[in-house]
Amino acid sequence: MKIRCKICGEYFCPGDDTLDLIAEGYISSDSVNTCDDCWDLIELSEYDLIESFSDADPGL
Ligand SMILES: [Zn+2]
Repeated sequence: MKIRCKICGEYFCPGDDTLDLIAEGYISSDSVNTCDDCWDLIELSEYDLIESFSDADPGL
């Protein structure tokens, strides 16, 4: 089973654990339609966001 990443559009294979959860109905494939690469990007961009907030001048 391959899932299409909603961000980059690439098809990827979710891990066995994820496939089990989908098969058992705990999660839907819609909730895992982000590939590992894009997850990394999301986490990085969230980290950047936090970083830029903490760099903001509190005196403004
Ligand atoms: Zn992706």
